[in-house]
Amino acid sequence: MKIAIIGGGVSGLVAGCLLAEAGCAVTIYERKNRVGKKLLATGNGRANVSNADLSSGHWHSESPLPFDPGTYFSAEARREFFDALGIDLVEEDRGKLYPSTLQARTVLNALRRRFFAADGEELVETCIDSIEQSKGGFLLASGENSFFADKVIVATGGMAMPQSGSDGKGYGLMKAFGHKKTRTFPGISALLCESPYLKHLNGTKVQGRITLYKNGEGIASEEGEILLAKDGISGPPVLDLARAVGEGKGDYAVSFPMLNHLDQLPDYRNILEGRSYLPVAAKDFLDGILSNKWVHVVLKECGLKGGEPMDQLSWEERDRLLKLLFSFTLPVTGVRGFDYAQVTCGGMALSGFSADLESLYAPGLYAAGEVLDVDGDCGGYNIHWALASAHRIARAIIKNDK
Ligand SMILES: Cc1cc2nc3c(=O)[nH]c(=O)nc-3n(C[C@H](O)[C@H](O)[C@H](O)COP(=O)(O)OP(=O)(O)OC[C@H]3O[C@@H](n4cnc5c(N)ncnc54)[C@H](O)[C@@H]3O)c2cc1C
Repeated sequence: MKIAIIGGGVSGLVAGCLLAEAGCAVTIYERKNRVGKKLLATGNGRANVSNADLSSGHWHSESPLPFDPGTYFSAEARREFFDALGIDLVEEDRGKLYPSTLQARTVLNALRRRFFAADGEELVETCIDSIEQSKGGFLLASGENSFFADKVIVATGGMAMPQSGSDGKGYGLMKAFGHKKTRTFPGISALLCESPYLKHLNGTKVQGRITLYKNGEGIASEEGEILLAKDGISGPPVLDLARAVGEGKGDYAVSFPMLNHLDQLPDYRNILEGRSYLPVAAKDFLDGILSNKWVHVVLKECGLKGGEPMDQLSWEERDRLLKLLFSFTLPVTGVRGFDYAQVTCGGMALSGFSADLESLYAPGLYAAGEVLDVDGDCGGYNIHWALASAHRIARAIIKNDK
């Protein structure tokens, strides 16, 4: 059986390996000059391929998922798969799993080795422009060339990091068969914020719990290192909040502490709360607990000049100071776009596919990975979805072929 896979990303390569090993004649068509460009960029070049926690709340879609990626591609299935690739996985913070070499290249090389060992074929610099049904199979067009296949897997990715080759072109291939696309927006990305202080705070970091508010109500909260830039904020706890901002309409804001270790400094806390007194200037007092860029912000926000002795602050001034130190608020104006995002929220609507991700409009046509309306949380859940969906399709094709 001839199988055409459009897109040489993780999902295309995984489906390719499994189907070629089962004896299918598999060709991967990749528009770029090499496969796996995005995979190499994942996890800061280390490829966070999955997560120890596979509970179902980590994947999102407008419709119910056709199968639970954590149950279907369970820890055991995952171990079997990576064992066969010769890759040991190591666990880091928040259950994130990486190849033990901590190099994405290891995963890409192992997938390609396995694919070629099973006589798989790669055709790079071949952008598939259209697919049509023909003689019990499909005809793929790329410029002047056309290719026949009995079955086709569309694994063209979403729109995040378009320079890697996935720029949304794959959606059109499926729309031609009547498939619908849900609204798409960038996920796992930095938040854009408006504040006169951001230019000054650019490059600073704080550690703590960040809360996202929609119309004044707290809707999500994450903990970790928050990085401030001149136009917004990023860092691991911020990335997962992008989905909620992109998803809805409303007034969004975030708040986080400027410092998180005041409880370890009881003397400072007592002074701030007025239980003990110190005739030190406000600026010098703040200098002892905050980095100097933040001292400027606090003084300005609290309307203090800096020379005021701490023991002469009014209760209102103390209250304002305390609130600010524990909860610095920034209005959120949006999410940084697809050029910076790690995933596309939305994609081809799941209602058009069977439980094995086969098209309900064109049997023999399948879709895997990020091209579908499924996105996962930061922490390895998107590659896990790419693996699980590709595995599911390959298993279905192999089973039906027997
Ligand atoms: C910077 C960055 C870091 C990330 N880090 C992680 C991480 O650590 N862990 C994690 O789980 N997820 C991570 N992700 C998300 C993850 O990489 C993707 O969800 C996953 O790679 C999607 O795989 P895919 O096979 O569906 O698509 P892709 O990997 O996007 O592959 C699609 C391929 O199809 C090709 N293509 C597109 N259209 C055509 C066409 N018409 N003809 C031929 N070829 C075509 C593209 O060139 C591309 O090579 C990250 C994403 C980015 C951008």
